[in-house]
Amino acid sequence: GTTLGLAWALDWVARSAATVAENRIALIELDRAIGDGDHGENLDRGYSAVAGRLEQADPQTAGDVLKSLATTLMSTVGGAAGPLYGTAFLRGAKVATEDLDAAGVAALLEAGVEGVTARGKAEEGEKTMVDAWLPAARAARAAAEAGQSAVQALQAAAEAARAGAEATEPMVATKGRASYLGERSRGHRDPGAQSSALLLTAAAEAAEA
Ligand code: ADP
Ligand code: MG
Ligand code: MG
Repeated sequence: GTTLGLAWALDWVARSAATVAENRIALIELDRAIGDGDHGENLDRGYSAVAGRLEQADPQTAGDVLKSLATTLMSTVGGAAGPLYGTAFLRGAKVATEDLDAAGVAALLEAGVEGVTARGKAEEGEKTMVDAWLPAARAARAAAEAGQSAVQALQAAAEAARAGAEATEPMVATKGRASYLGERSRGHRDPGAQSSALLLTAAAEAAEA
């Protein structure tokens, strides 16, 4: 089947920047409910800076793209999400030095989850971006083991991430700023889980294109 490399990674970043810009206000509103209202602003600042940085970096592989993305997000996004996404994509970059088949997609997402959890120490069910990333990585691994293509693995991952983001709504936050609200965090979707679902949906759409 088709493997995913440099062209896919560049398209993923371009689609990510577009979806983050489109959802800037919605992400701000989610973060206003259980945080400090800056998540959409933070991510949009980061993804707006990526295209220029990529032009400078002249990437040769998907790994180079993810590395440039990671360092850009780390230096521009700030807040909790900047270092978390930065670490996720930096770990992913090490996996994406060669074109990805379905098992490669699974390994990429597993590396991303490991980056997020190494940095933030959240487990599943704590109402964070982990609740989108972990089911996504699991779905990609299952697709790979079922003999599906890289594109199908990413589609399954994106679908699982969207379901995972939705599933944060009834959760009580025990990590990050939303944990200050305790019980009052219940009934709101976690902004980082939602942005993660948007980014993984962009990854699948880039793979389909
Ligand atoms: P801040 O809370 O510093 O303003 P953002 O608003 O940009 O940062 O990002 C908030 C998101 O970061 C949360 O919705 C959550 O998904 C994620 N997050 C916060 N803390 C953690 C953590 N320890 N582990 C994983 N994700 C976290
Ligand atoms: Mg915030
Ligand atoms: Mg903040």
